Amino acid sequence: MATETFKFEAEISQLMSLIINTVYSNKEIFLRELISNASDAIDKIRYQSLSEPSVLDAEKDLYIRITPDKENKILSIRDTGIGMTKNDLINNLGVIAKSGTKQFMEAAASGADISMIGQFGVGFYSAYLVADKVQVVSKHNDDEQYIWESSAGGSFTVTRDESGYDLKRGTEIRLFMKEDQLEYLEEKRIKDVIKKHSEFISYPIQLVVTREVEKEVPVEEGEEKSEEASEDKSTKIEEVEDESEKKDEEKKTKKVKETKTETEELNKTKPIWTRNPSEVTKEEYAAFYKSLTNDWEDHLAVKHFSVEGQLEFRAILFVPRRAPMDLFEAKRKKNNIKLYVRRVFITDDCEELIPEWLGFIKGVVDSEDLPLNLSREMLQQNKIMKVIRKNLVRRCLDMFNEIAEDKENFKTFYDAFSKNLKLGIHEDAANRQNLAKLLRYNSLNSPDDVISFEDYITKMPEHQKNIYFITGESKQAVEHSPFLEIFREKKFDVLFMVDPIDEYAVTQLREFEGKKLVNITKDGLELEETDEEKAAREKLEKEYEEFAKQLKTILGDRVEKVIVSNKIVGSPCLLTTGQYGWSANMERIMKAQALRDTTMSSYMASKKILEINPKSRIISELKNKVEANGVEDRSVKDLTNVLFETALLSSGFSLDDPNAYANRINRLIAIGLSVDEEEEAAPAAEATEAATEEPVVESKMEEVD
Ligand code: ADP
Ligand code: MG
Repeated sequence: MATETFKFEAEISQLMSLIINTVYSNKEIFLRELISNASDAIDKIRYQSLSEPSVLDAEKDLYIRITPDKENKILSIRDTGIGMTKNDLINNLGVIAKSGTKQFMEAAASGADISMIGQFGVGFYSAYLVADKVQVVSKHNDDEQYIWESSAGGSFTVTRDESGYDLKRGTEIRLFMKEDQLEYLEEKRIKDVIKKHSEFISYPIQLVVTREVEKEVPVEEGEEKSEEASEDKSTKIEEVEDESEKKDEEKKTKKVKETKTETEELNKTKPIWTRNPSEVTKEEYAAFYKSLTNDWEDHLAVKHFSVEGQLEFRAILFVPRRAPMDLFEAKRKKNNIKLYVRRVFITDDCEELIPEWLGFIKGVVDSEDLPLNLSREMLQQNKIMKVIRKNLVRRCLDMFNEIAEDKENFKTFYDAFSKNLKLGIHEDAANRQNLAKLLRYNSLNSPDDVISFEDYITKMPEHQKNIYFITGESKQAVEHSPFLEIFREKKFDVLFMVDPIDEYAVTQLREFEGKKLVNITKDGLELEETDEEKAAREKLEKEYEEFAKQLKTILGDRVEKVIVSNKIVGSPCLLTTGQYGWSANMERIMKAQALRDTTMSSYMASKKILEINPKSRIISELKNKVEANGVEDRSVKDLTNVLFETALLSSGFSLDDPNAYANRINRLIAIGLSVDEEEEAAPAAEATEAATEEPVVESKMEEVD
């Protein structure tokens, strides 16, 4: 009987000491975690059995059984689930750390409640809240029965179980209880904890209880003290000394007290979704939600409904209060809806049930129509599944609209899941407009309170045709953008879209209630103007036409074109991008995605259009200077480059070469302060590109651009 010793992965080891040493009063949650694991394990074997019934041969009954052994101070929790092979025991219970291990320790260190442990995928270790030694005996169909054992301290052992005790299939967790945790061996305490945390587990939870029963047994002459009355060797018999004894003796029978063990089922409530919604209390929904999700907080909203007619199913859908930690991680489970068929659990990993953007919705669906022996392939093609999915999406939208009726709840919801709504807009054409109603933004006229598209439209001046928005990195970054100047003047509102996913969503949305959505940082923005304004603009355009061409000559292909603009109020110039390429903000987002495919960027990268403001003194003075000195003039070039680069920044782009820009600015500062630059920068003349008329240095400067 070889015993092998293994070291816990370092973080798991730390986690275990944290759990063992924590001063924490709500230790009862260990039972919820172990029962939840047992239930998961039964789910797994059940699902396998749908396509391969023989996997249940070794043990057909599916149940969880809790046995308190007061004498030896052991609490065992056994299930007839899938069990663990030797390798499973080693990997799942100690060697392979999950990402949640560290996250949980960090959360705990910053004051999070220990009862959140299940959410981090390390619930098993909560056993060490109450036990100082734990054994896990497990039998998987594909392996022999093994015992995992650890008293923490950095290591565990795994041994073949040759005791003769045969689980047939499944797992038994044996907790060697700490001296101060013996309350969890008490029947009443166990029942309370299960009622509180595990009532809605869908397999029977049996508690092994010992009862004292009185029994009349015949007294055979000379055998009064016999111990044969019980089949159970451990049963103790006491004689009852009461008045009736004498009589009994005369009849040659006597009453004895004996202890008898039996199992009691603790979770007999029928599935909550089969009940009438009007009869289910908020507390019951909350308890069900928690048992379903391991969440420690109540749900934010619930929708309980049944669909009848051609297709029949019942469902309960929940919106949590928070996004899970791994909401957008690629490897996480794509949905959180448990599928039942006529009350039998089928799977909780059926991607066809609900679209990915609704992956944060938790709940159950119980179909009357699907066949019980559903295989994965069947799920994928099934028409019934498609109808159910459509229904679930619609009910979710109803639920979101209901949440929107309460401002505070909606804020909680929006903070957690607005990204999902936007992903939905991107992916779900059919529901795009309905989802758009739920979006909220700060805006030029409403910097502190968010508004909806509907709010925006109601406040639009009559002659405004489009819905205007600006995209950028943050509210602060867009709030003072030069693009907004003209809108301030015209009293048109502009929505601030500062979530990267807005860019994606809005390219799909395109319009809302017939109003075009227009990005004000892009080319082609046409603002309404009077005849007078038009005439004035055309005159200026003519006047600056030649100058614009000259600027284009200086800037080369860093700009697509240079145009005279009527959309700028105070700033000298700004940069717009082509209608169909990336906006400045999108360029920033794409640059940040290091692993992106670079072929995209060459044709999507923003085509920049320099728009100049002829009313700006800077522009008119620069024009004079170009006219006087020509485009080859050193300071004309310098000023134009600085102007362009400054416009890049104020328009939301980043600089390819910030140092070249800094050098140019420093030169300007030097001029402003009348510093003799040659003297000042002499030792580092090359690096700082000290001003000089030498053509060599000039060409070098061009390279830097
Ligand atoms: P989680 O349940 O979130 O995966 P746990 O720490 O509770 O995390 O459990 C770790 C793993 O140990 C489970 O994923 C499962 O593979 C295995 N496990 C725990 N308990 C059982 C059990 N009763 N039967 C089979 N496998 C189990
Ligand atoms: Mg678990």
